[in-house]
Amino acid sequence: MERRRIRVRGTVQGVGFRPFVYRHAQRLGLAGWVLNDSRGVLIEAEGTPAALDELARAIAAEPPRLARVESVETSPLAACGESGFRIVASPGGGTAAVPVSPDTATCDACLAELFDPADRRYRYPFINCTDCGPRYTIVLSVPYDRPATTMAGFAMCARCRAEYDDPADRRFHAQPNACPECGPRLAWSGPDGRVVATGEEALAATIQALAAGGIVAVKGVGGYHLAVDATDEPAVGELRRRKARDDKPFAVMVASISEACRLCDLDRAAIEVLSGTARPIVLAPRRRGAAVAASVAPGLAELGLMLPYAPLHHLLLAGAARPLVMTSGNLTDEPIAHEDADAVTRLGPLVDGICSHDRPIHVRCDDSVVRALPAGPQVLRRSRGWTPAPLALPVPAARHVLAVGAMLKNTVSVAKERMVVPSHHIGDLEHLATYRSFLQAVEHLPRLYGVEPEVVAHDLHPEYLSTKFALDADAEPCGVQHHHAHVASCLVEHGRTEPVVGVAFDGLGFGADGTLWGGEVLVAGLAGFERAAHLLAVPMPGGAAAVRNPWRMALSWANAAGGADLAAQVGERLDPAWEAVAGLVASGRSPMTTSAGRLFDAVAALLGVRATVTYEGQAAIELEALAASAARRGAGICPFTVDRSGPLPVLDPRPAVRHVAGAALRGEDRAEAALAFHRGLAAATAELAGEVAAARGLDTVALSGGVFQNALLSGLAVEALEKAGLRVLTHRLVPPNDGGISVGQAAVAAARTA
Ligand code: ZN
Ligand code: ZN
Ligand code: FE
Repeated sequence: MERRRIRVRGTVQGVGFRPFVYRHAQRLGLAGWVLNDSRGVLIEAEGTPAALDELARAIAAEPPRLARVESVETSPLAACGESGFRIVASPGGGTAAVPVSPDTATCDACLAELFDPADRRYRYPFINCTDCGPRYTIVLSVPYDRPATTMAGFAMCARCRAEYDDPADRRFHAQPNACPECGPRLAWSGPDGRVVATGEEALAATIQALAAGGIVAVKGVGGYHLAVDATDEPAVGELRRRKARDDKPFAVMVASISEACRLCDLDRAAIEVLSGTARPIVLAPRRRGAAVAASVAPGLAELGLMLPYAPLHHLLLAGAARPLVMTSGNLTDEPIAHEDADAVTRLGPLVDGICSHDRPIHVRCDDSVVRALPAGPQVLRRSRGWTPAPLALPVPAARHVLAVGAMLKNTVSVAKERMVVPSHHIGDLEHLATYRSFLQAVEHLPRLYGVEPEVVAHDLHPEYLSTKFALDADAEPCGVQHHHAHVASCLVEHGRTEPVVGVAFDGLGFGADGTLWGGEVLVAGLAGFERAAHLLAVPMPGGAAAVRNPWRMALSWANAAGGADLAAQVGERLDPAWEAVAGLVASGRSPMTTSAGRLFDAVAALLGVRATVTYEGQAAIELEALAASAARRGAGICPFTVDRSGPLPVLDPRPAVRHVAGAALRGEDRAEAALAFHRGLAAATAELAGEVAAARGLDTVALSGGVFQNALLSGLAVEALEKAGLRVLTHRLVPPNDGGISVGQAAVAAARTA
């Protein structure tokens, strides 16, 4: 007989780790105990050396589905003749490193029960276990325990309680455990919210409404979706009309991987992320003839697919037997509805019926979005399924940090010790309702992680509501330049702290000099940065109006590249009001910007892709799609130059703009011109970044900012940089767009106060 102490670190709490150890100890005839403490899981086990070895092997090789084992340390103890194996209470006070796991897709074992007529949870839409189910979205406070969740109001029946109390059961301490007898119920109501059916009848009514082309609000895990038959063109068109959403693509939920493969080209990595426990929306190239309505994703070469992640979704998809549009339950730009009364008020007018239930959602949490790229999946929105999992911080945070993000696509993050925890996607703070959920998040996330902010990191833009909040907070403010934060967020996910060449291309960010930046080459580490080069600055006629109207940027760039003559030539084709805007450009009264995103807008408008946009980044996304459609034709490349006459090198796209405008005026192939622009910008950027790297003795380039969501551009830039012998860091886990800003801010604040 031997006795060993086994220390397990990682994500090992709230994931069924103790019952897992218990079951193995029982199987192996081991005596001893297991407990959770502030450092993870601690085990003392006594038995034969072979049995103890086997326990250690199982912990390392086949831990529970949601666990992430980082280390297993074993030390010998004196055997003491203990008998039996116990799960013992946590020693007082220690808070877990990871207090609650993310919401997790229904596991295979629960799915088998869901469709097993002999099971007591047959067709029960709220089936879950220790390996799956809602978590983050139902947690009110920590420690994670049933009374601290939105399941508090449901008293477990005797059978559920027995499962919950039995360490050998899959549902041991599964906080949302429930069954048809004691748990939440489904309800079907009209648009006015008056319930007309419950349970199986509610499900049948929902499926019937969908089959008839109706629009249905469906309460999910992190909020309501609006659902409609994705193959029914009039129904999808009607949803677009009612939601007041002109062009932004809708996500489609399909029942299975094989159905997903009929709609999109998916490689192994894409299938893995699509079917993983986070179940994000995966953007992937649409197959020719894919059987979904045209208005699901107008003008785009990709579709956003997701698989069912709640038991209710599995039941709906099985019943409807067709792909469903599952788009967030909101009017354009508003936050997604997650409270029942609010859903009736805001979604009632848009729908033919509401499929709801009585398990409250505490934290609104949008679906995550991942783009399937040839080089691997890239997270564009990190939210449901990943929140609140921490990321490793490359420098320790000596003080507790709250980072409040930017304005658009806002997230907040907290940092302490070696971790940074990004919140769910909050959204555009311009909307009052969104700002309210920002206020909720800056309370809730620190509380979950036991963070009492000593430092509040924020953007430099004085008008961002997040900045104003930070400057009013009762903690030391730490201003972080927007593009430095972008590059820092990329460094975090690669575990780097030392300076690299950071290329940050995005829409707009407040510069260190008070002007609007967005086409920046920085030399940046976590602690600081220096601007090393940038895109040529041009007027942004009308400020915010230029963001909504890419044709204004086209006019500005045409004027910069070819003077009043070229502006007049293209102006007539762009907009009847072009002369007034040309006057504004010439007046010198418009704000100047170095934004790469606005340059993309300009090129898109010059090529007739679109003159106005209904969502941010739309023109650039469609320009990329146009360029990608030309990928096998021509080999043109737009010329760019670098002006070295000033204090910093300036990347000058004017020759490229002349090339593009000329091609458009001569009626040449637009797709080829779009591709040539991508090629030219990628090549010029790589060359300039390489030059900065050589001058500073650096060998690594990080690509960040929303513009690098453009797969064509980033693919070409990575290729050119690698050819030049440079190491390239790109985003995989943290969004390259402003959704990643709070992660970068938190890391910079940690590095500065280390
Ligand atoms: Zn399960
Ligand atoms: Zn029950
Ligand atoms: Fe940005």
